[in-house]
Amino acid sequence: VALLKRDDVDIEGGWKVGAPVPYAALAKTFSLIEATTKRLEKNAILTSFLSLVIQRSAKNDPTSLLQAVYLCINRLSPDYVGIELGIGESILVKAIGESTGRSVALIKADLKKEGDLGLVAMNSKNNQKTLFKPKPLTVPYVFSNLREIALTSGNASQAKKVSIITKLLAACQDFEAKYIVRSLEGKLRIGNAERSVLVALAQAAVLAERERSPKKWSQDQLVARLEEGTNIMRSVYSELPTYDQVIPALLEFGIDGVREKCKLTPGVPLKPMLAKPTKAIGEVLDRFENKRFTCEYKYDGERAQVHKLEDGTVAVFSRNSEDMSKKYPDLVDQLPKCIKESTKSFVLDSEAVAFDRSNGKLMPFQELSRRKRKDVKVEDITVKVCLFAFDLLYLNGESLLQLPLSRRRELLREHFTVVPGEFDFAKSSDGETTDEIQGFLEESVKDGCEGLMVKMLDTDASFYEPSRRSVNWLKLKKDYLAGVGDSLDLVVVGGYYGKGKRTNVYGAFLLACYDSDSEEFQTICKIGTGFSEEMLQTHYDTLKPLEVAKPRGDIKVGGAKPDIWFEPKVVWEVLTADLSLSPIYTAAQGLVEDRGISLRFPRFLRIRDDKNVDDATGPEQIAEMYERQALATKGKKGKGGDG
Ligand code: ATP
Repeated sequence: VALLKRDDVDIEGGWKVGAPVPYAALAKTFSLIEATTKRLEKNAILTSFLSLVIQRSAKNDPTSLLQAVYLCINRLSPDYVGIELGIGESILVKAIGESTGRSVALIKADLKKEGDLGLVAMNSKNNQKTLFKPKPLTVPYVFSNLREIALTSGNASQAKKVSIITKLLAACQDFEAKYIVRSLEGKLRIGNAERSVLVALAQAAVLAERERSPKKWSQDQLVARLEEGTNIMRSVYSELPTYDQVIPALLEFGIDGVREKCKLTPGVPLKPMLAKPTKAIGEVLDRFENKRFTCEYKYDGERAQVHKLEDGTVAVFSRNSEDMSKKYPDLVDQLPKCIKESTKSFVLDSEAVAFDRSNGKLMPFQELSRRKRKDVKVEDITVKVCLFAFDLLYLNGESLLQLPLSRRRELLREHFTVVPGEFDFAKSSDGETTDEIQGFLEESVKDGCEGLMVKMLDTDASFYEPSRRSVNWLKLKKDYLAGVGDSLDLVVVGGYYGKGKRTNVYGAFLLACYDSDSEEFQTICKIGTGFSEEMLQTHYDTLKPLEVAKPRGDIKVGGAKPDIWFEPKVVWEVLTADLSLSPIYTAAQGLVEDRGISLRFPRFLRIRDDKNVDDATGPEQIAEMYERQALATKGKKGKGGDG
């Protein structure tokens, strides 16, 4: 873990105990991380940096570490607070121009050549002759300015943002401008995933523990404790994903203490448990052989994690931990009616589904997506919503995560009441034979659902696993039965000009999956099917402002040649007939074979604006689908003998 020598990030003038963290030290750390492709090295560099921050923080000061960690994950607040960067290119180009005296045209020309505005900013700065050395930037100064930029809105906000960025850039030296600009763009692109920051934090805390320890640790002890510490921090953060609480507790109480102090808390959304796809009922029975399981309707709506605090506050969070209370004020209003008096505080996992109250029928997701996303007024709502609760994660001061699903479900049913058309429990059946499951699947589809969720009911295998795509939850969608297994969520990275009737819009698109380990987009297919004319226009309107001249540096292009590139921002759900190896595309390259994997006959299903690009399908999932398909084909050949 000692790859980074202190001198590497120690800068002129020193970084003294109790002094603010120099931004130069962080920028140097980023540049070292960016310079290596080896994950272990990246991790060691970050661990050493965070160790230094811990060592040099004044006693009782969690702020230095907190801000350093936020800048490493390029966030300014926990997800659910939603203070976001993602400043447009034109503002940044303007600020780079103003702080370096270069013209917008020159900067744009450089950008076309380099494809990385961070690099352009750094080169522009470093080629500029300055008389005075600017006062060094510090982490707290950069952090508070980034926050101010993110929070600036309304009239004249553009000018204000340009002026703050210009001031920041004017003080930049060495690598600093590169990372400040990339932070502002919303992506650091150093190949350091958010979860590796958590690992580095855990390891830095273990190293601090060793330093405090009066006894000398053996190497084996250190290795064991590093692993244990990492597991503890992962589990703590998945229950309480907010560094605002985790870091102060970690510094005050240490790793074992943080486990005790930081638990699921209403008001802080936890990362939801996810399911693995299955293709056939037989597969479900194989997986859950001799275990008790339940099948539930898989409702076609939007995931809603509903929290109620002791003080009566109700909040609804999305799959991505965004606060949706303003999108669903009707849900917030409806809820008190279905809570029993004994229920003081809770966290519910549920699906919000568009519902036709005149005939008591579920409506498809398309209806739900017609609702406004922000500042909805209850009196204007035309598409009504019913909440289908399928899990209870917290009740009256106690976390239920480590109870079997059967018990959580009992508690759910005991503490809530059905209100027709407004609140219900997910319909379930604990039937166990193929015929029973088949019957229930057909019923779910007839009622307007996507299929079934099959879940383990008892033992520790049925505990709620935050943020995990778990084999203890299987999804069985009607679409899969004939197809590959699951739809994919892919990022739109390129466009092809349309022909004939489609000349004023893009006629086809280049899609990519996302590798969250290397923070890289990998191309997977060209898609031109499944779009109505109206849809193509909508896509054009959304994607046009995202056009860029060159593929961004974190797109692994392969042989794809679209007419135009986009900033990777938009996620689509896509179906495919099957997967094949490809000499052109780069998805999952090296996982199954040297070649990448591509989708055959991809078809557009819908826009997934409830997903960020980092939630897009990953290369491992694609490799898994490919291998499953290969196995199924082999199976068929084996059984039928007709090849
Ligand atoms: P999908 O594209 O299938 O929605 P996803 O990546 O959002 O995928 P998955 O784990 O694949 O999430 O599928 C689970 C999703 O299905 C949940 O996020 C939830 O929104 C929805 N859902 C509907 N009914 C249920 C249910 N009874 N139990 C759990 N999830 C359900």
